[in-house]
Amino acid sequence: MAQHPPTDSCDLDELDDLDELDGPHEECGVFGIYAPGQDVATLTYFALYALQHRGQESAGIAVSDGRRIVVHKDMGLVNQVFTETSLAALQGDLAIGHCRYSTTGSSSWANAQPQYRETPTGGGLALGHNGNLVNTAELARRLEVAAGNDSLLMASLLAWDVDLSLEEAIVRTAPDLIGAFSVVVMDEQRLHAFRDPNGVRPLQIGRLPAGGWVVASETAALDIVGAVYVRDVLPGEVVTIDGNGLRSRIFAAPTPTFCLFEWVYLARPDHRQDGRSVLYARREMGRQLARESHVEADIVLPVPEAGRDAAAGYAAESGLPFADGLVKNRYVGRTFIQPTQTLRQLGIKLKLSPVREVVEGRRLVVVDDSIVRGNTSRQLVAMLREVGAREVHLRITSPPITDPCYYGIDMATRAELIGADLDVEAIRDFIGADSLHYLSLDGLIAATPNERDALCRACFDGQYPIPVPGEHENLAQIRFDFSESS
Ligand code: SF4
Repeated sequence: MAQHPPTDSCDLDELDDLDELDGPHEECGVFGIYAPGQDVATLTYFALYALQHRGQESAGIAVSDGRRIVVHKDMGLVNQVFTETSLAALQGDLAIGHCRYSTTGSSSWANAQPQYRETPTGGGLALGHNGNLVNTAELARRLEVAAGNDSLLMASLLAWDVDLSLEEAIVRTAPDLIGAFSVVVMDEQRLHAFRDPNGVRPLQIGRLPAGGWVVASETAALDIVGAVYVRDVLPGEVVTIDGNGLRSRIFAAPTPTFCLFEWVYLARPDHRQDGRSVLYARREMGRQLARESHVEADIVLPVPEAGRDAAAGYAAESGLPFADGLVKNRYVGRTFIQPTQTLRQLGIKLKLSPVREVVEGRRLVVVDDSIVRGNTSRQLVAMLREVGAREVHLRITSPPITDPCYYGIDMATRAELIGADLDVEAIRDFIGADSLHYLSLDGLIAATPNERDALCRACFDGQYPIPVPGEHENLAQIRFDFSESS
């Protein structure tokens, strides 16, 4: 196995102030391919490129030629981690790929994925995980190691359990994993993919026209490699792909609760889930928001990018003109440049700039996907007023976020969530908007193809579909602390 050393390093915690401008953070994207005779590394590279929005801290690819696994991973974006030369060195019949944003464990090369482990049978496995486990302490005790990164623990558990085959190890081990997990894992000859019984994160199977199979977090990754969507990996299912084709085993009874926030913000607009495109769902959210929150205004302004499709829906339903009045700097994201105090003070202006000719003298309906801490929305409203907005009416395509996510989305702690303790009028006052309206939970759910009980809605209603150890004790403590300090 070859794992290349990191080429860059920095303390990414330093960047939190800038990252907060993005609101919630995606967690990870995963991809797997079994296609002997095809350039599996390059196809994986392009798939990761399509999944880049799900994680920008690190990227990696593991390839096997049937005899040994080689891993190349590093900190940075997909196109920073791989070159033509490094891809050419990754020759094989099957591969997995991963792009990561850390939700547990530090942001470091050691935590970048795929994670490689040797097995007692003399082989190895490589694993990529999207999601978050909530029972890492218990799993770590079993391995007699310190609790830490959940994906490392999962790889170690599977490696520890391999005797007959990796497939058997997954079927034995997966029922003990509690939380959200969409996983691709390979040994030297086979590709496996499995998904938690709640199916919180997406994972889809595609077929390549030249023969072979792929699995991916989103349909955009299937499209870019020319694969045809076949079906989702089912909640509680493990699929194994090798020279004999694809076979399926169920390791736990399914209790589907797909992440509602994937619809609002996380997935790409061109992703299709349960028969509906995310773009179409977001347009519907905008239409419903317009029905729920009419206001006299001149134009509808999207906050790029996630607010764009919903703003189009809002404009269509309300009859107001859609106006592109905020320009996003596409190249600001995670950066290896240490932010100075001056950069921090620039705040949202690093990411967005208003077009004065569009905004000046107008009453704006501004459509965004969510409010986490409220600081970004506050800066946005102030910036629009600076260039002459007459009124700013903020419309949000999700309900207030009242509770943190334990299933792989890095939003904020409960104490940081502005929706956890303030009502809508107090939030409006903090942000400085003329009016503020959130989409109702019923209105949001109606925009998706999913039934209410088949969705995780915990960050909006506190009903966690997978029990989180300590959650109720934490909740009582944090609410007590908050009332003490206010
Ligand atoms: S808590 Fe929110 S973000 Fe997390 S899985 Fe549930 S709906 Fe998605």
